[in-house]
Amino acid sequence: MRHVGSSQPSTAGSESHSLELPLPLEAVITTPELSRRTLRDRDLAAEHRALTELMDEMATAGGATASDRIIRRLVDTTLCLCKADCAGMSMLEMDGDKEVFRWRAISGRWAYLTGGTIDIGSSACGVVVRTNAPVLMDRPQRHYGSLPGGDPISEMLMIPFHFEGRPVGTLWVVSLRESRRRFDAEDLRVLTSLARFASIAYRLTLTPDRVEQFRLEAELADSRLLQAISSELITENDEKGFRERLLDAAMSIMHSDCASLQMFKEDADGGHLELIAHRGFSQEAIDRWQSVFSTTLTACGEVLRSGRRVIASDVMKCDFMRGSDEQAFMARGGVRAVQSTPLLSRSGRLMGVFSTHWRTVHVPSDRDLRLLDILARQAADLLERMRSEERLRESDRRKEEFLATLAHELRNPLAPILNAVQYLNLVSPVAPEMQWAREVIVRQTTHLTRLVDDLLDVSRINRNRLEIRKERVDLARVLQTAVETTLPFLEQRCQTCTVVPPAESLTVDADPMRLSQVFANLINNAAKFSSEGERIEVIVEPRGDEVLVRIRDRGIGIEANELPAIFDLFRRVRPSYVQDKGGLGIGLTLVKRLVEMHGGTVSAASEGSGLGSEFTVQLPVVASTADAAPAPIEGFSVGHGHLRVLVVDDHIDGATSMCRLLRVLGFEARQASDGLEGLAAAAELRPDVVLLDIAMPKLNGYEVARRLRTEAWGKHMLLIAVTGWGQESDKQRASDAGFDFHLTKPVDVAELTRVLSSVAATV
Ligand code: ADP
Repeated sequence: MRHVGSSQPSTAGSESHSLELPLPLEAVITTPELSRRTLRDRDLAAEHRALTELMDEMATAGGATASDRIIRRLVDTTLCLCKADCAGMSMLEMDGDKEVFRWRAISGRWAYLTGGTIDIGSSACGVVVRTNAPVLMDRPQRHYGSLPGGDPISEMLMIPFHFEGRPVGTLWVVSLRESRRRFDAEDLRVLTSLARFASIAYRLTLTPDRVEQFRLEAELADSRLLQAISSELITENDEKGFRERLLDAAMSIMHSDCASLQMFKEDADGGHLELIAHRGFSQEAIDRWQSVFSTTLTACGEVLRSGRRVIASDVMKCDFMRGSDEQAFMARGGVRAVQSTPLLSRSGRLMGVFSTHWRTVHVPSDRDLRLLDILARQAADLLERMRSEERLRESDRRKEEFLATLAHELRNPLAPILNAVQYLNLVSPVAPEMQWAREVIVRQTTHLTRLVDDLLDVSRINRNRLEIRKERVDLARVLQTAVETTLPFLEQRCQTCTVVPPAESLTVDADPMRLSQVFANLINNAAKFSSEGERIEVIVEPRGDEVLVRIRDRGIGIEANELPAIFDLFRRVRPSYVQDKGGLGIGLTLVKRLVEMHGGTVSAASEGSGLGSEFTVQLPVVASTADAAPAPIEGFSVGHGHLRVLVVDDHIDGATSMCRLLRVLGFEARQASDGLEGLAAAAELRPDVVLLDIAMPKLNGYEVARRLRTEAWGKHMLLIAVTGWGQESDKQRASDAGFDFHLTKPVDVAELTRVLSSVAATV
């Protein structure tokens, strides 16, 4: 038995290419020529005789050598009917882990090669099996180099034969240079019918076990192919990429030269097809088939009419195309066979058409069509899913736009309402009972404004329109602003907010307004979902180059199953026993997005319903410096209800807001509006701390301090000067007058609380 190893492309025998590089494969493939050549005369009588003899041989053959004899007869018949110089049947086999072709039988000039093998990669038949289609080659040695027979070949026509739907070998004819025989479509027709005998003969060479194994292998290979295709299709999210993959898959399953995908569009005439993806067509064909109607005489037009798959194995012989412009156009463009398969939705509605085209006559095998059906089913499902996702995205976009417009429209009337109330206050002071009504308007309008502002922010974020202006800010200041913002609400609910700042001061890169909005929202929620009189804690924990800010409450808590969705837009969790506290369910979404825009994260935790909640904001820290506070107190906290503080300031708003702040921070606070009133209040209240403004009518701050120090009860109270003057000399003067501390306006709440806590610790 001879074995021809893989022959490198080299020079071909007597061909005059000895010094040229091998030609590319495409240059020697001339299959489309077949349909252009003038057909030779059919010798039907000879054909009939030969096929009858072949069938007789099959019917009578028996014994161990039956398949050999049939195969020999088959190649003899092939040689004779195609008037070739050589004919053969090559079968795919495994040689170790290599795929080879074995020449099961050869008739004519190269008969002596029978039984030998050739590597699939070095064989022209390899192309036939790979493309699963007939191939005509002109002087193949120009690509492959010297072929095993050695003689210069003029033409070689090869056709695959199948078992279990898979190509397992080829039947081929060769004309040598001397004879110059040129094959045509008639030879292809003869070979096509002989290939069926080849399949039967092949089957006879197999033992029953081998047949079974073959079936299993075929099924396995098909499922692998489908699986590979579907995993590619499923992971493709973009519709354009998906269509391209689909065309690739269809062409690979059907071994076709071109492919197209059309979508069905409803119209007044019942609907038409629009081309949305194509492969392998000329621009003329693309333009021509851009829209296909039920009157168009193409295979896809026929699908529109019948709703079923249409196969035209030979366009030139297709009944519904006969004599049409389309048929002529396809003939000119070299499209010889086509199949069109409808893509149906699960409810049976036509969604589109999936077509594959060949340049030669082609009968798709059952296996190919079966796989195509599976692919079509999958494609229809995925397209349907993509469409519904697109519809969802579209409705989401419209909702976003609606929200943005709504928020703007709602925002507009709010400012004039507030202005009008302020104006009324100025021009016509009213009786106290009417004042209440005005306050309700202001309070509720302010609340509404905040809600609408949140809504506007969310819609800005969703449309990527929210900008944050980052700068280096002290986290303590940000928290201070947040607490101040929530003061009125905390006061209204008689709640306190305890801030536990870290020992060092932390700088974050943040938009101060937006970040305090984050904390204000969280503190506000903590207050809203806790009972009146409850305490809310804000704990700041530095962790390396980041900081955790925890907002902890002892309120209604959150059920474990609600936690994951708590930050979703419009998410409102209301256990049935909890009274609805209002709100749109946008606050936390805004918090999450804003924190993320600052490079941080936010999470929620709760032991469960009734057990309080804790929201943790984690932020990157750009710098932290050990605090240069005058009285460093470690781990101090604020909120010692037993500490009494007197605020003396002639600026009423200033004194009122300071008192409010102190109360929210957990202190007992009272205010007085001049020096004398301050002295009287101190005598009555015996405060632990007095915050004294310096420039005041009647009695200035220094004088008040001096007098307080002369009283027995005033000797140990903490006196803090609060002034606009921050020179060293001013501090000295304050110290001389008996003050313990000197703070400059506007007072930094963090600093104040630190000072107060130091006193609280000693009281
Ligand atoms: P809103 O408070 O306007 O409803 P949010 O987005 O701020 O919207 O909060 C969403 C939901 O999360 C609230 O409806 C509430 O059920 C829950 N929630 C938020 N903060 C807390 C908290 N501190 N304790 C308990 N539940 C909370």
